[in-house]
Parts: sequence; C-alpha cells; structure tokens
Amino acid sequence: MGYALPVQTVTIFEVGPRDGLQNEPDFISTEDKVKLVNLLSDSGLKRIEVTSFVHPKWVPQMADAEKVLATIRRVPGVLYNALVPNLKGLERGIAAGLSEVVTILSASESHNRKNLNMSVAESLKELELVNKRAKESGIRVRSYIGTAYGCPMEGFVDPQKVLEIALALEEFGSYEISLGDTTGMAHPKSAYEVAWLVKGNLKRAALAVHFHQAEGIEFANVLASLEAGIDIIDSAAGGLGGCPYAPGARGNIATEVLVEMLHRMGIETGVDEQKIREASRFAKSLSRYFRSEGSHGNATGH
Ligand code: MG
Repeated sequence: MGYALPVQTVTIFEVGPRDGLQNEPDFISTEDKVKLVNLLSDSGLKRIEVTSFVHPKWVPQMADAEKVLATIRRVPGVLYNALVPNLKGLERGIAAGLSEVVTILSASESHNRKNLNMSVAESLKELELVNKRAKESGIRVRSYIGTAYGCPMEGFVDPQKVLEIALALEEFGSYEISLGDTTGMAHPKSAYEVAWLVKGNLKRAALAVHFHQAEGIEFANVLASLEAGIDIIDSAAGGLGGCPYAPGARGNIATEVLVEMLHRMGIETGVDEQKIREASRFAKSLSRYFRSEGSHGNATGH
C-alpha cells in the first residue's frame, strides 16, 4: 500500500517581502524590495504578500508600501496583495489599486492586545468594517488568525475559539483564512487537529496554514496539515522573518525547502526550484540576521 495524501497540488502563499522583511532592523531600499518581489514572481509563485499598509511609526520598514507596489513588474496570473491592519490601511490599499488585502488578529486575548491593542471582540468589529469596505471596492480579503496553535503568554489556545473566529471572518466575507503559528508552538498533532476542525466547519472560505520555524518541527506540521487536507501553505523565501532582538520571534517556514519537500513527495507547486533558490539567496542577502550569521546568528534564522 502506498502512502496516500488527500492533496496532490499545493498553492504557496509567499510572505517574504512583508512578513519576512518587516522586522529587519536596517531599512532595505525600495529597489531591493522590488527586486525580491520580481524574483519571486519569476519563480512561478502565484500569490505574493508584497508589503504592509501599517503606520510607518510602528513598522518603519514598510514605509515605502505604495512605492513598492507601484514599481514591481506585474506578472500575469500572479496575485499581489498587502497586509492592512485596519480601515486606514485598507484605504491606502484601495488607493494603491490592490485587488486583494490581508487582515490579521490573534486568537489569544493577551497576544491580540499586545499586538493590536484591542480585545479579540474589538478586533472582529474592526475587521467586519474592513471586510464591508473591501467588498464595496471589489477587493478580496484573506484573514490571518495568529496564535492559532498556542500563545507565548497564555500557552494553550482553545481550537474551538479559533474555529469561532474563523467562522466570524467567513461570515464577514473573507474568502480565505490562514491559521498562524505565530511563535512556532504548533506540533503535528495540534496542526492536524486544528486544521481538521476548522476546515470541516468552514462553508465557503478556503483554509491555509502559516508555520514558523521550530527546529524542524515546522515541516512535520506541514505534513500533518497535508494529511488534514490543507493545500494552501504560507512561507517566506529564505525562511526570513526572525527578529534579531526577540528570541521568541522565529523565522517563517522557508519557501525553497517547502517546495523541495513537496516536489520530492510528488506534490505540484508550479514553482521552479532553481529560481526560488535564487530568490531566497537574494532575500537572505537583505537580512542582517543572515549577514551576521558567522558572528552570532545561525543558519536556521532563529
Ligand atoms: Mg509569519
């Protein structure tokens, strides 16, 4: 008997230019950001999170969001999107001509308060308005649920709460939900169970997973998610996204390794292995984390 997975094709949602770069301490030039997005577009990836319309006071690295979006070379068939943390961000996204935006909240109260300065209920209220305004403008919304597999402050996060939030977001009109393992706390059992529960209860929305590095456990989480029928996976070229000053903030799962793993298993991604490696090398060259590898960092990005 062969090992049968319910998934033959995976869509990779590339978050490197946004989630990967946003914590970089040195400002990366607009030109280099554009070059990274163009390399990623050329690799065969179909969905790329380009930037974030967050206030530059909070994330100075993303201050050139409009400029990056206006300068990238748009490859037909590739969906370019940006994170919008609130209505203000959405208005900037609309002005920039986006057809898809990404929103975020956390399943854990403490983490949501720390990150967004709101309760989960308050966040949902804001996101309902964001979804409504996006719909009026013909923009699709993808929604992240952070700390879906555990919270660094609260520990256990009830999968039932994750499900409730996912159903609310679906009700608001989000076409896709992405479950975020914000600080790398998921394990294959929780990865399978949370995905199975949420996927089994969503009526229209698609479900994606977003894992962070956990010394290899992240790839076991990918496999468990595939077994639960997940076929959309978030990742960042080079595994970027770690924060040099916050030991808990680990990098994203590395796109080039994810692609290689899926291809070895006979799962199609549409991504060219050599081209994604090239994009990942360039992504790493932009990161202080990887540049300082020899002195105090390490090769896995955390
Ligand atoms: Mg991430």
